Amino acid sequence: MEQERKTPTPSVRLQRLPGYGRGRVRQGAALLHRLGSNEAPDCPSPGIVAAMSEAMVDSNRYPDLRGETLAAALAAYHGLEADHVAVAAGSIVVLDQIIRAWCDPGDEVVSAWRSYEAYPIIAGLAGARLVEVPLDRDWKLDPDAICTAIGSKTRVVLICNPNNPTGTMLPRGEIDRLLTQIPGDVLVVLDEAYVDYAAEAVEVASGPVERLGQYGNLVILRTFSKAWGLAGLRVGYCLASPEAISIIQATQPPFPLPRPVLAAALAVLADRDAIVTRVARNQCERERLARGVRTLGLPIAESDTNFIWLPVGDAANALTGHLAAAGIAARAFAGEGVRITTGTGDDTDAVLAALRTWNALAASAGV
Ligand SMILES: *Cc1c(COP(=O)(O)O)cnc(C)c1O
Repeated sequence: MEQERKTPTPSVRLQRLPGYGRGRVRQGAALLHRLGSNEAPDCPSPGIVAAMSEAMVDSNRYPDLRGETLAAALAAYHGLEADHVAVAAGSIVVLDQIIRAWCDPGDEVVSAWRSYEAYPIIAGLAGARLVEVPLDRDWKLDPDAICTAIGSKTRVVLICNPNNPTGTMLPRGEIDRLLTQIPGDVLVVLDEAYVDYAAEAVEVASGPVERLGQYGNLVILRTFSKAWGLAGLRVGYCLASPEAISIIQATQPPFPLPRPVLAAALAVLADRDAIVTRVARNQCERERLARGVRTLGLPIAESDTNFIWLPVGDAANALTGHLAAAGIAARAFAGEGVRITTGTGDDTDAVLAALRTWNALAASAGV
């Protein structure tokens, strides 16, 4: 007797998740310029690599239970007590912990949209619904619209500032106005992955202290993946009230960060001059890119990050393909725009050259 073979199917909420793309375009040409994932263009310094190698010697021993040596160093950097910090293998992981800790299936997470593409995946995994609030005409977050979208099922509001992939930033005063208006029983996650690159970067270290004192429902997300140059090692953290930190840690398996990763992160924190240098160079390349793009008459949003956003609408895929043919990996958001990371001077030259030929093609096609 033949029985029909069945296979176990995953949950409906898993089947419905959007995919998370990598910043690559599969093309024949070798992609010499990796400008699709907003990584830092330079390798870790020899000092960081040495710190990692040294830590490998103790690989037979478990690392910190909760990454507490790193949490303590981060607390000192921000002028907070250590019980205000939780670390994990990337700030995406911290966000996943947060959503799982505060949301039940059917709850709502409010976020501006277009924003970080991991948000709908993380909300969907927890069975929560992402309520997408359109950006304003300058591709910026719209605080009033975000407040209006908060309802009785809203458990978490995500604020990505500066925003990925548009690069735009709301000034401090506007974020504070927004925080004041959000009800105290709604958790606010302020994702500041790119804050080091912002013009207001003076407050990168000290800004959170005041805000955490003022808003008990606030969690600030930071990462070592962007200006701090360690995307490949996976380190992120959050700053919040001690109560929120213990809730977040309750969702975390023990030993989140391996010894060499902890050592590298500590070495990065001890060498902040390298970060300052990286940020300064980024600003220089970003301005050069933006000036070039404007000269070509292409649309571009204001950027406070290590990438630029070209809102080219329906041309997004074609432009990304054109860049890929020139050896440049960028990120297409179909029908909306293209995000290009700012890298080295060579990268900037290559992008501007490719955009020039793109313009020439458009001109000859009579567009
Ligand atoms: C890159 C990025 C992150 C960083 O995630 P990690 O897991 O720390 O690498 C977080 N939020 C946004 C908006 C990002 O663009």
